[in-house]
Amino acid sequence: MLGKDLLGIKQLTAEEISGILDLAGEMKKVVLSEDKKLDTLKGLSVVTLFYENSTRTRLSFELASKYMSSSSANITASGSSVQKGESLLDTGHTIDRMGTDVIIMRHQCSGAAAFLAKNVKASVINAGDGMNEHPTQALLDALTIKEHKGGFKGLKAAIIGDVLHSRVARSNLYLLQKMGAEVCLAGPATLMPKDIERFGVKTYNNVDKAVEGADVIINLRIQLERQKSALFPTVREYSSVFGLNERRLALAAPDALVMHPGPVNRGVEMNSAVIDCGQSFIDEQVTNGVSVRMAVLDLLTRGKRNAVN
Ligand code: ASP
Repeated sequence: MLGKDLLGIKQLTAEEISGILDLAGEMKKVVLSEDKKLDTLKGLSVVTLFYENSTRTRLSFELASKYMSSSSANITASGSSVQKGESLLDTGHTIDRMGTDVIIMRHQCSGAAAFLAKNVKASVINAGDGMNEHPTQALLDALTIKEHKGGFKGLKAAIIGDVLHSRVARSNLYLLQKMGAEVCLAGPATLMPKDIERFGVKTYNNVDKAVEGADVIINLRIQLERQKSALFPTVREYSSVFGLNERRLALAAPDALVMHPGPVNRGVEMNSAVIDCGQSFIDEQVTNGVSVRMAVLDLLTRGKRNAVN
C-alpha cells in the first residue's frame, strides 16, 4: 500500500517499487486480455488535469482507470478556466469538491504536484512536474527492464540526451540506483545539471563512453520547450555527436535494451534504424505504461476502499 499520493520516486523505498512492479506484472495480463475489466475502482472517480501536452501518459492513465471501472474525466489547461486566470489552488479545490478520489496532474512547474497534494483531499499522482519527476514513467521503464533483464542489480544503464530538463532522467536515476543498477549520464555539457555527480553517477560528454558495455540505454527527448536559449548549435550536429545510431549501439552489450519515453524526434535523438530494431523496447514501454498506472491506481486507493468495505 502506498500513502495518499504518488509525487516522485525519491519518496519511495526499494520495497515499495518492487511491490508496484509485481502488481503491474499482474495488471499486464489484464491489459493484454480480451476482457479488460476489473471492478477495483468501481464507485471511485479519477480526473486527469493536464497543463502540458501529452499523448501516452494521459491516454494510458485514462484507459487504466477505465479498465478498472472508475468514473473518469479529463480536463486540460487549454480547455478550462485556467485560461480565464484561475489559480492551480482554486482549480484543485473545484475538482476536489466534485467528489474526486484521484487527481492525476501534469504541470510545467517543479513541485506543482506536491503543492496540489497538500491542498486537496483527493490522492494526487504526479504525471510530470516541470524538470522534477515523472514517477510513473520511471516505473514503466523499470517494468520493461525487469521483464527482460530479470532484475536490476549489477546492470549498467546509460541515460543519454537532455538530462538538464528531463524529469524522466531524474525519476529513472532515483529508481535505478535504489534498485541496485549503476547509472551513467551522457549529453552536451550545456544539457547536464551542474551538481549531478553528487548523486553518485558518472557523467560523460562522449556518448560512446557511456554506451560502452551498457545493458540498458534510455534516450531522452530534447526539451526545446524548456530551453530559454540555444544550448547546442544545430539539430544535425546534435544528432551526429550525441544521437544513438547503429555504430554506437554496437558498443553496448549485445542484448542491450534501447528505450525512449516518447515522443521520439526521429533522426535527432536516435535514427530510425535504431528506433525500429529488434533491441528497441519503445512499443513495449507504452503497453507497460498502462499496466504500471493500473497498479498505482490500485495501491493508492486501497486505504479508501478498505475504509468503505
Ligand atoms: N513524455 C515525457 C515527459 O513528459 C518525455 C518527454 O516529453 O520528452 O516528460
